[in-house]
Amino acid sequence: LQGLMQDRPLLISSLIEHAATFHPDTEIVSRLPEGHVHRTTWKGIAQMSRQVAQAMQALGVQQGDRVGTLAWNSYRHLALYYGVSGCGAVLHTVNPRLFPEQIDYIVNHAEDQVLFFDLSFAPLVAQLAPSLKTVKTFVAMTDKAHMPDIGVPHVLCFDDLLASHSSEYTWPEFDERSASSLCYTSGTTGNPKGVLYSHRSTLLHTLMELAPDTFGISSAETLMLIVPMFHANAWGAPYAAAMVGAKLVLPGPHLDGESVFNLMNQERVTFSQGVPTVWMMLFQYLDANPHLDPKALGVKRVGIGGAAVGRGMLERFENQFGAEVVQGWGMTETSPIGVISKLLPKHAKVPAEDLIKTKLKQGRGVWGVDLKIVDANGQALPWDGVAFGHLHVRGPWIASGYFRREGGEVLDDEGYFPTGDVATIDPDGYLQLVDRAKDVIKSGGEWISSIDVENTTNSHPGVAESAVIGVAHPKWQERPLLLVVRRAGTQVEAKELLDYLSSRIAKWWLPDDIVFVDALPHTATGKLLKTKLREQYRDHRLP
Ligand code: ADP
Repeated sequence: LQGLMQDRPLLISSLIEHAATFHPDTEIVSRLPEGHVHRTTWKGIAQMSRQVAQAMQALGVQQGDRVGTLAWNSYRHLALYYGVSGCGAVLHTVNPRLFPEQIDYIVNHAEDQVLFFDLSFAPLVAQLAPSLKTVKTFVAMTDKAHMPDIGVPHVLCFDDLLASHSSEYTWPEFDERSASSLCYTSGTTGNPKGVLYSHRSTLLHTLMELAPDTFGISSAETLMLIVPMFHANAWGAPYAAAMVGAKLVLPGPHLDGESVFNLMNQERVTFSQGVPTVWMMLFQYLDANPHLDPKALGVKRVGIGGAAVGRGMLERFENQFGAEVVQGWGMTETSPIGVISKLLPKHAKVPAEDLIKTKLKQGRGVWGVDLKIVDANGQALPWDGVAFGHLHVRGPWIASGYFRREGGEVLDDEGYFPTGDVATIDPDGYLQLVDRAKDVIKSGGEWISSIDVENTTNSHPGVAESAVIGVAHPKWQERPLLLVVRRAGTQVEAKELLDYLSSRIAKWWLPDDIVFVDALPHTATGKLLKTKLREQYRDHRLP
């Protein structure tokens, strides 16, 4: 027996029309690459999106065709999010921080028909254009007065292109399972892999993003998107903001501590999401400017994911900003919500000090994401908070495979996606990430969690950042080497750090050696680039 409810497809175009109808005057604020601040509204974004959709048709873009962007977070990028996906084409957000060869590979692999780019990337596009064989049209995301010369004939101007189309448009209706956007993982090993989202997966994920037990976003929010729109759809926030009509603040490329602080302050941001690296930059700015009071910002919550949140970061947001930290674990392949860290009612009675451990876990399961941890033979492990194994996930916003990837099947025999992460899950359903399977240090047949050692090291006041890698050892197979960036103005030494760690982590987890460095390498999404570190320190002799 079939239900008798209307079978309306879940389409991204419905989000922008909702925002335009019910929140027309709510502001969208962008700090542009050129530095100045631009203001529009949800109504303005809806009009632009409709123009984009018609421009796509005029340029011959068919349903399912890929349209690339090389762009920062801005109102123009937001209009592409809705206009391109809304008309049935696929928005391919390319990460401009990747190596040019990777960008070349990605755009060719995706067969992008049109490539939109911010002025900051004009030199990059000029360099790559000759080898981007499928791109028929390049569009500079600017006005007529600032058109760059990239040495390619017929580069279009974004503002002109839109102006030649009407702001009225009727969105097409199609199958909600159609592809909506495409994002490649950064591919620290091998070629990047394309994750192809659908309208349905995006809308279901958006609903979960709004829930009070996840990020709890409402129309009362001023949401600053620090996480880039080329990284897993900015964690879904551009869609979530439209679904509830929240005010959006888009910082462009200006992610240094001073710019972030000032924009948060000026726009009275209540909630912001970003990876730990950007928050560390904000902290460094505040360290250098102790007269600034972070509490005066009035930020209520920060969403942090992509890498583990350390105790120092958690406590600084809670104590100095008066803000709640909502940690999430996820990946490009999970849209990205996998688990979200929120406390349960029973925790209200637990003393603060005893809660820290729970708060620092990556989070609990949410509806829609099935979790399991398995051993090397694929056998499920208990949820006792101790046993750790490979994390597999399943759900309507989890990838089932990669775009145009030969050799196909990635799911296990129960339809779960193997994440490449190693985790524990406790009896309350809180997941704690032990490591990426490829980063875990194998010492004498046991595993050392580099995340744990790094977090403990980072909680020392003299440390700005740290990384732990395994170095070959004749007896133990691998032993940990700790690399440390000192906090500016401090002079912490190896002996002091080792004493500090000894009282906080298991003895056999203690690093065999500590090396102080000026900086650590990061991936294009702001994570420690451990492959590079392992290469660099492969021949390091442990004492
Ligand atoms: P990449 O940075 O490789 O392009 P993702 O952004 O998809 O790709 O990275 C996903 C990975 O980031 C996860 O598999 C996990 O290892 C790590 N990660 C994500 N969130 C957290 C977190 N809260 N704590 C620790 N690690 C995390």
